[in-house]
Amino acid sequence: MKQEGNIPYKIYLEEQEMPVSWYNMRADMKVKPAPLLNPGTHKPMTFEELQGVFCDELIRQELDDTTAYIEIPQEIRSFYRMYRPSPLVRAYCLEEKLRTPAKIYYKFEGNNTSGSHKLNSAIAQAYYAKKQGLKGVTTETGAGQWGTALSMACAYLELDCKVYMVKVSYEQKPFRREVMRTYGASVTPSPSDTTEVGRRILAAHPGTTGSLGCAISEAVEAAAVNEGYRYVLGSVLNQVLLHQSVIGLESKAAMDKYGIVPDIIIGCAGGGSNLGGLIAPFMGEKLRGERDYRIIAVEPASCPSLTRGKFAYDFCDTGMICPLAKMYTLGSGFIPSPNHAGGLRFHGMSSTLSQLYHDGLMEARSVEQTAVFEAAEMFARVEGILPAPESAHAIRAAVDEAVKCRETGEEKTILFGLTGTGYFDMVAYEKFHNGEMSDHIPTDAELQAGFDGIPKFPGNEF
Ligand SMILES: *Cc1c(COP(=O)(O)O)cnc(C)c1O
Repeated sequence: MKQEGNIPYKIYLEEQEMPVSWYNMRADMKVKPAPLLNPGTHKPMTFEELQGVFCDELIRQELDDTTAYIEIPQEIRSFYRMYRPSPLVRAYCLEEKLRTPAKIYYKFEGNNTSGSHKLNSAIAQAYYAKKQGLKGVTTETGAGQWGTALSMACAYLELDCKVYMVKVSYEQKPFRREVMRTYGASVTPSPSDTTEVGRRILAAHPGTTGSLGCAISEAVEAAAVNEGYRYVLGSVLNQVLLHQSVIGLESKAAMDKYGIVPDIIIGCAGGGSNLGGLIAPFMGEKLRGERDYRIIAVEPASCPSLTRGKFAYDFCDTGMICPLAKMYTLGSGFIPSPNHAGGLRFHGMSSTLSQLYHDGLMEARSVEQTAVFEAAEMFARVEGILPAPESAHAIRAAVDEAVKCRETGEEKTILFGLTGTGYFDMVAYEKFHNGEMSDHIPTDAELQAGFDGIPKFPGNEF
């Protein structure tokens, strides 16, 4: 059915109520996110410089701050149709459990084998690589959701896929690894001796169990030295937020259809892609002055990039070979204490979200992991879905807001992103059930060590 009403993108909707274009928030931002810089010259990265690492079409999307709607190629839409539109659910049972007058909705992205929203961007990135005639792609994965999503997309398009998996996850999550291999990916524990940067990191830190930043360095190097390969990244970049806008566009189309307007929109934030995608069309209205929404990013207290980080140019990877991005960062050398939300352990945050936060267009809060698992368990018991620990950060904040409504009697409408399922995170749930989970909040001194590693150059004062 075609829509009447106030959705500005109605012409972009098909019969299936799936968007036919992604929405690029940057087009409506008055203050654009700062460009990526060449780490050597501190000048903005050019298309040509990025070509060695990324696919051409994805670079165009990365650098495009002006086109609001970018058409989703038909082949990608056909793939989306296998698992989209994803469910938008009213959490009646949770509302009742909380005895809140608030109305709570969640957009569930866990209904595909990768178990998360990451497939939305994986298929797009694999598609453009294939279209360019490349042989394959390289990437890193921490908890494993991104690597799984990319493996699925590459299997579908018959592209080779090399995944560098953070060693600690490689060892602790053998099932994730085997899912990736089922889809034909080669999976290497990182740091490894297959790359120069891996060998350098191993020599400096023998016995290290790796980090996301370190795996990124290896994947980037593998793309640079292997003919016909490019590097792809599952979060942080502008292009990834663009692809993830399907989450928000579908949510908004469904809510508009029933005349529902959210007051508060909540998402967990690792590198910022699901949140950036969920809020996209709502933030667009806010940026254009059409409507106001409260938007809340939720991050772990153990890795608090927005709430305690510096807004500065920094490396995206530990090996310091990637371009510099201006973002809220804890420093590329910051290694968060072990916590169980693998997808939220990145030291920085999307430049787009960082700029929006800096300009006061969204809020951020941090939560401790035992409180997160309490919310996860409550949600699983009343709503049936076993949430990923990452997603449970958003549940925690949604529950807290709904409880506030109980106290004030306000009938707010809350929308949150339920990014995925937690079947591969049962060790974390086990720790929680056994009372063995602790909350680590880094001290200011610990954070300072990370800040000391942020590059210093004129114009990068923080
Ligand atoms: C990767 C991941 C996240 C965090 O990544 P963003 O880019 O911040 O969205 C959140 N939830 C799940 C289930 C994930 O796999």
